[in-house]
Amino acid sequence: MVDPDRDGRRRQRPECVKCGQRPAAGMKLLLCGGCMTAKYCGLGCQRGDRPEHKLVCKALEEVRDNAVLSLVIAAGRGDLAKVRSLLLAGSKVDKTVSGRRTPLLAAVRRNNTAVVKLLLQSGADANKGDDNGSYPLMSAAEFDGGVAAAVVALLLQAGADANRGNGKGSTPLYAAVCYGNAAVVELLLVAGAEVDTATGDGSTPLMMVAQEGHEAVVGVLLRAGALVDKTKERVNTEPLTPES
Ligand SMILES: [Zn+2]
Ligand SMILES: [Zn+2]
Repeated sequence: MVDPDRDGRRRQRPECVKCGQRPAAGMKLLLCGGCMTAKYCGLGCQRGDRPEHKLVCKALEEVRDNAVLSLVIAAGRGDLAKVRSLLLAGSKVDKTVSGRRTPLLAAVRRNNTAVVKLLLQSGADANKGDDNGSYPLMSAAEFDGGVAAAVVALLLQAGADANRGNGKGSTPLYAAVCYGNAAVVELLLVAGAEVDTATGDGSTPLMMVAQEGHEAVVGVLLRAGALVDKTKERVNTEPLTPES
């Protein structure tokens, strides 16, 4: 039988940074939530160590945030090689810090198909937004041209919700219509986007496109069954009763 006290693994067990004690069998040390590095046997030791630990904690937290942000920054620059090497080195694909975009959102804002593809293949959540209520599909729909359509297609393939709005009344379809991108409008409709969802002020995608004059988009919306007269929905009818 192995003597637990002579067991190398046992001797390597971490100790509380304040009192130096190792936890009893079956117990674990508690990790400082700031730096995620310092370990304590309990709240008493954590509090006691705070005055001394504070500066180190902040510095370690900053280093950790910078490590997380390097993926966001590389994605936002469209630096495919850097994104790849950071992911290979173990960067978490969906992590960001408070107030910043996720790597996927940064790549979408850059309209960079290759980086978006790599992040999605690496398991990025196609529906994860940021603190400001931005979502990848919504952001992708706000671009014009073929690259935007490619990014939208990748997001939809990865399970992005075609109807997820920005919480302020706008939807991906509405955004694509505003930017006159018929290819994106078509992709969204095929993926199940509601054609007649009105924004906060009551205007539908068709009303918006009529105002902006994007003819190709009008055609796509009408083929998808957009109501030319939204009031048709509100026609009053008498209740039906069975024939006597
Ligand atoms: Zn302790
Ligand atoms: Zn700490």
